[in-house]
Amino acid sequence: MNMTVWRETPKVKSDERMNVLGLVVFSICFGAVISRMGKAGKPLADFFDSLHMAIMRLTMIVIWYSPIGILFLVATKLIEVDDLGQMFTQLAYYMLTVLVGLFIHGFIVLPIIFFIVTRTNPYLFTYRMMKALLTAWGTASSSATLPVTMECITVENRVDRRVAKFVAPIGATVNMDGTALYEAVAVIFIAQSRNITLSVGEVIITALTATAAAIGAAGIPSAGLVTMSIVLTAVGLPVEDVTLIISIDWFLDRFRTAINVLGDSFGAGIVGKLSKADLELFDSQHPDGTPFSDDNELEPVVSADDEIVTVKDNSDRPPKYGELNPVFMSSEKL
Ligand code: ASP
Repeated sequence: MNMTVWRETPKVKSDERMNVLGLVVFSICFGAVISRMGKAGKPLADFFDSLHMAIMRLTMIVIWYSPIGILFLVATKLIEVDDLGQMFTQLAYYMLTVLVGLFIHGFIVLPIIFFIVTRTNPYLFTYRMMKALLTAWGTASSSATLPVTMECITVENRVDRRVAKFVAPIGATVNMDGTALYEAVAVIFIAQSRNITLSVGEVIITALTATAAAIGAAGIPSAGLVTMSIVLTAVGLPVEDVTLIISIDWFLDRFRTAINVLGDSFGAGIVGKLSKADLELFDSQHPDGTPFSDDNELEPVVSADDEIVTVKDNSDRPPKYGELNPVFMSSEKL
């Protein structure tokens, strides 16, 4: 099927592409070195902090003008497109590809990993995250969903609060599986709409930079659309082509955010399971509580099979992960 929908010069691919992957690796190493320099590195760290604040202010000014700018960008693209009908069909296929990809990742790949590590029922875990997933779908923001995510992880899925407090906020900022998947598909779609076939190497670069760009994306609506410019630049595609998919981004954003939140939750569940023994040992060594533990009012009572326990709870605090065995649960919890 001919993918080209452009009126003229379908192949616009710059060979003078920026080495984005190199920049990302350099920035990570540079940041790591500055942070290890201590006092000597402080001026440089302050400089980058100040630069960041200045860029943020500049960005705010640009954002106020964005409705007008985006209107003209999209209008220009529409005029350039030769066959609007074909364009919409392709957009529908693109949407379907992203949705199927997200479904496979969220409901097959992640659950398998979760099951292999924790030996607990991933779908029950997902079911108990439903409130957070729906909030993520509604707000299109992992950060805004964070309080609900924390609640579902600790109260519904009984992951230790210390683990949840550590993993969920990091996950909401860094771990964005849905966004990475979407960015990779979007870039391949943009390349195909210009009748450009990406080589195997370029597909690998797309996957790597999409992952890096997703890590850099904030947990707010449409952040992935912005960081996608990194991926487009890495494979030499025109950045302004994101306007092709802007119109449907609000819709796809909701689904990828839900998968982002699901990924964070599975991550917390896995870390909770892996650190369960250490946390129990720590608790047993600090029976009177420590500044790091705020869960000591719980008095778990282990049953004969060492799996299902009841909790003598002196507060309204939720029990820890594993205190009620979620493996193919009895109907108690449901
Ligand atoms: N909205 C997404 C999130 O908050 C980020 C993105 O992909 O745009 O997780």
